Formats: sequence, structure tokens, C-alpha cells
Amino acid sequence: MAQSSDGAARNHALFREVNERLNETRSPRFSFREFVCECSDPSCTASLAVAAGEYEAVRSAAKRFLVARGHEQAEVEQVVEDNGRFLIVETTVETALMAHVDRRAGG
Ligand SMILES: [Zn+2]
Repeated sequence: MAQSSDGAARNHALFREVNERLNETRSPRFSFREFVCECSDPSCTASLAVAAGEYEAVRSAAKRFLVARGHEQAEVEQVVEDNGRFLIVETTVETALMAHVDRRAGG
């Protein structure tokens, strides 16, 4: 039973929401903040040390996500950056992601 790219997109969106909340509570005194891994594994509990600027950079690109090293899925995303602490991946299944957003918005 292969994991569908549909499910991966849904998990990405879920983890992104969690990280958005974490970002809102970030103290400006600390340059690094713990964020959750945004990989497609729903049971993943890995945390990542991400600088404020790095987080903003990833957030500015709708298709990019933060994942722990080794948590990337070659079938649905490609690694665009590896800084030694975490990977920045870009999803290649944005149509699936958009379909989900669309459905939610329409009720
Ligand atoms: Zn993960």
C-alpha cells in the first residue's frame, strides 16, 4: 500500500499550520526556534532548530516546507537546500495541495 501524494499534501498543510502557531509565539530574544518537521509522515515528531529568517524565507514560498534530514520523499518533493540542521523541500504535487485547499474553502 503506497502512500498517496494526496495524503502527503494534507500532512504538509497540517504541519504548516502548527508551525504558523509556533512562529506567532516566538520570542524575539532567541534567534532559533523549535519547529516541527513538516514531512509527510503523520506520526513524525521530529523538531527542527530554525532561525527566524530561515522560517520566513521558506514561508514566502507556498510550495516549500521544512523537514528533518532523511525525511524527504523523492516521489513528492525535491530537496532545494540542506543546511546541516534540516532540509528545505519543494513539493512537486502542488496540484494535489491546491485541490485540498479549494475543497476546504468551498465548504
Ligand atoms: Zn519528519
